[in-house]
Amino acid sequence: MVLPKKSRDPVSIALSIEEKVASRSLHGKPLRRYYGFSHGSWYGGSFAGYTIGCNLNCAFCWAWFKNRFDLGIYLTPEEVARRLVYGAIKTNAKVVRISGGEPTICIDHLLDVLKEFSRRSTKIRLVIETNGVLLGHSGSLASELGEFSEKNISVRVSLKGADSDTFSKLTGAPREYFTYQLNSIENLIKAGFTPGRTLLVAVMSSFNKPREIAELIYELSKIDYEIPKTVELEIVKLYKNVRKKLDSVNLRPFTYIEPDSSRS
Ligand code: SF4
Repeated sequence: MVLPKKSRDPVSIALSIEEKVASRSLHGKPLRRYYGFSHGSWYGGSFAGYTIGCNLNCAFCWAWFKNRFDLGIYLTPEEVARRLVYGAIKTNAKVVRISGGEPTICIDHLLDVLKEFSRRSTKIRLVIETNGVLLGHSGSLASELGEFSEKNISVRVSLKGADSDTFSKLTGAPREYFTYQLNSIENLIKAGFTPGRTLLVAVMSSFNKPREIAELIYELSKIDYEIPKTVELEIVKLYKNVRKKLDSVNLRPFTYIEPDSSRS
């Protein structure tokens, strides 16, 4: 595996992306650009809204649209909440997701979506799927989300690899930002989210050896002993565009899934 040519700071990247995807407002409400909404098989059947704009550049990312600022539409928080609730009811999904892109870019928009969503539905669970970098960088961002920790809102932090070297190779971000991913878990717990219930942790495990994954899980147990019981090990799906991108940065997974095929 080779290091990416240029490491970029994902906090500054988030700020510049925010200008591109969330620079507008309507009647004082912050808008955000979304690629679209659809039903999928995650969580046993869920309905998702996909944001445009991400501060990482994961070599395995399937969300090809994530930084296509010419695609999608700007939506108000009310419209996002309405589409999620309506989509869930229509598809009989008990879970909805806001995924990526990175949902925590433009936190004001996200907080308004959560406010509106929890007003419209108390039964459907909304999962915010995040890389955690911004929540690890700023404890106050995580505490703002904590306002919703007792409601039907969960946060899922997806760690990009099991250690800082793998994180950097996979995402193009400097190694130290892996710590921000881990910090986000601590910050969310402090903010009131409960591991295994309202705080879910996943690890992209395809690019690490079992020993390295075991070491990460040990580190996670020091944050909260519940995390190792529920941590999800993600395996890369080798879609055509993902395979191409991994080849271009000379990355090879130890384990992978062929789309529509069995695990290798
Ligand atoms: S954090 Fe998620 S959306 Fe962003 S590049 Fe990585 S996999 Fe894609």
